[in-house]
Amino acid sequence: NRQITLAERPKGMPDEQTFQFKTEEINEIQQDEVLLRTLYVSVDPYMRGRMVDAESYIEPFQLNEVIEGGSIGEVIESKSEHYTVGDVVIGNFGWQEYYVAQANEIRKIDPSVAPISTHLGILGMTGLTAYFGLLDIGQPKEGETVVISGAAGSVGSIVGQIAKIKGAHVVGIAGSDEKIQFLKDELGFDEGINYKTTKNLAEDLKKACPNKVDVYFDNVGGEISDAVLSQLNTFARVPVCGAISTYNSEEADLGPRVQTTLIKKSAMMQGFTVGNYTDRFKEGAVQLGKWLQEGKLSYRETIVEGFDNIPEAFLDLFKGNNIGKLLVKVSDK
Ligand code: NDP
Repeated sequence: NRQITLAERPKGMPDEQTFQFKTEEINEIQQDEVLLRTLYVSVDPYMRGRMVDAESYIEPFQLNEVIEGGSIGEVIESKSEHYTVGDVVIGNFGWQEYYVAQANEIRKIDPSVAPISTHLGILGMTGLTAYFGLLDIGQPKEGETVVISGAAGSVGSIVGQIAKIKGAHVVGIAGSDEKIQFLKDELGFDEGINYKTTKNLAEDLKKACPNKVDVYFDNVGGEISDAVLSQLNTFARVPVCGAISTYNSEEADLGPRVQTTLIKKSAMMQGFTVGNYTDRFKEGAVQLGKWLQEGKLSYRETIVEGFDNIPEAFLDLFKGNNIGKLLVKVSDK
């Protein structure tokens, strides 16, 4: 069984030293256990946070242990009455080719509804993040302006489409012309701004948001967010979902202080994690599935092939090499 472990805690951008490939024997399965062969693993920006030993909403990864994260596998041996060989399941077994799972730490997924990989994206963690962050905190109303940073990524691309369903004027900020075209032509965003080539982000935002910004769904933090926060409307809402521009920074990120903006605009900024909504996941997944079936939502995946390429794929997130959900396909069903 090949596995990828955390070899050392990165300072700045992770590199080859951060990860180690290992091979281990697979244990015999016991009563109530199943043996899984990994089909897909998810690589996610939040994993960068777990590589450091700091207090957070989730425990840090342990050194020399398998990198944990969302994965999809196929049952190839079962001693559980709940699973049979061939079942496709989702769990948190992370970056390894096989895994002996307790029956209660995995969940079956139905391959007839949508491609199985969608359970790591639009119908899974990132789709739910978009759904609850936007609807519970952002609460967009018809005719309002919603700006999204990291707009062409897994979370951002869903946020913008849900905002369109709610009748908002939707503006996405992303890092390439190809991404901007994807947002406008395929996802129906009203405007897109390439933050890497713009000469003046604040000016471009003013043009794209003539009525200013009512909801800013923040995936990136840093200077992009400074620019958007300066354009808030009265009673604006800012769901703070991520700050990927700072995840590899070695020094604290000090931007303009926003208190006076929030006061002047009676605006609300609220951090959240999708885990806050565990008891409503079902509701979110049902609604996202319904919109998908009705053709109101679409999604893109960037799929990297091969177990060996997992660390590189993870680093691609910080280079912006993905459109939509970034996944690694480890083996065929
Ligand atoms: P994405 O699919 O959006 O991938 C990351 C994207 O971030 C890249 O494609 C890149 O696109 C962009 N990016 C990378 N570096 C920078 C930078 N320095 N400045 C601006 N943009 C950058 O990932 P996810 O959709 O999975 O996650 C998006 C955000 O949401 C992350 O910050 C993540 O941590 C957060 N998140 C939070 C959750 C929560 O519960 N609060 C749950 C899930 C995700 P580009 O080409 O546009 O630069």
